[in-house]
Amino acid sequence: GLVLVTGVTGFIGAHVAVSLVQSGYAVRGTVRSMEKAEDLVRLNPELKDKVEFVVVKDIVAPNAFDNAVKNCDYICHVASPFFYENLTDNKAQLLDPAYKGTMNILEASCNEPKVKRVVITSSTVTICDFNKEPYTGYRYTEKDWNPITYEDALTTKNGFSAYCASKKFAEISARNFVKEKQPHFDMCTVNPALVVGPPIHPMNNMESLNTSDRVIWSLINGSHSQPSEQAIQVDVRDIARAHVIALDKPELSNGRMIVSEGPLFTNDICKILRQKFPDMHEVISEPTDVPFNHEHYTVDNSYSKSLGMQYHSPEETYVDTAMKLWERAKEF
Ligand code: NDP
Repeated sequence: GLVLVTGVTGFIGAHVAVSLVQSGYAVRGTVRSMEKAEDLVRLNPELKDKVEFVVVKDIVAPNAFDNAVKNCDYICHVASPFFYENLTDNKAQLLDPAYKGTMNILEASCNEPKVKRVVITSSTVTICDFNKEPYTGYRYTEKDWNPITYEDALTTKNGFSAYCASKKFAEISARNFVKEKQPHFDMCTVNPALVVGPPIHPMNNMESLNTSDRVIWSLINGSHSQPSEQAIQVDVRDIARAHVIALDKPELSNGRMIVSEGPLFTNDICKILRQKFPDMHEVISEPTDVPFNHEHYTVDNSYSKSLGMQYHSPEETYVDTAMKLWERAKEF
């Protein structure tokens, strides 16, 4: 079958394309420019002749995906703005693009009879309530929703909250769309935690590195940041694989799947990497004495495992990520 991947030149989108190709699917990717598409293939020769590209300059423009969906059996809608620094207009920069991009892909799919399912890359930010952090002992599941309201999302000065809301309202709108319009296809979401892993997508310099890998880069780029951040993580190769699993699992019809490996603790990452790379101590932050909070909330990945998900070990993830980041930094 032919799978459309929106945002194929992004951090996650590039890995989704690789996973699909490895699983034998034909892939079409939407890109903002052909130059970037060529760069993606240059960086990942295994995609050559396996992925075709179509230019979609802006996912927000009316009818943006009408050509892109032609003849596609499945859609992976990955593209959505993911940043929260220097945000000046929550609605224009985050809420609208996330919502309109999702509506555009669903509306376009209504006109392509071959489409069987639209898989949307949502996030655990639509699930977790970050105001409750560290939310001692709580375990989030697919039943939970971030309680942020649209009104708060419009005015909050907290960019991260605005990003969370953009994902939440895009996901809810997609669910409502399918419920109300009853199209010939169904949808589901994959909801990853913080995604880290080897970056294989085009970038201009290390300053333009994707938002989530910056957490790791800041620990190993010689800036000697003070590591004490605690979050929940998943390997980018695992969330890519989750998209492949989500394409045709009947159980996931209009469903929701958390994709999360476990805790990420920057202090531990530094310890792991200093042990693994004794020659790189000059650039790897020194661990602090901030302790890991064992009472911190967790995220339940058992549903994903019941559907066949397997996860890289955190050590593998951090080691592979660090090696790739150092390698990519040599490009610039
Ligand atoms: P990236 O910024 O690397 O990728 C975003 C992709 O969306 C890029 O391909 C980008 O195009 C494209 N895009 C964004 N806005 C537009 C637009 N207006 N028009 C056309 N294309 C657009 O981030 P990630 O790969 O990390 O994120 C991908 C998805 O995964 C997003 O939906 C994000 O919310 C979600 N997610 C990410 C997590 C993470 O930790 N990384 C965690 C949970 C969910 P271009 O390549 O040209 O810039």
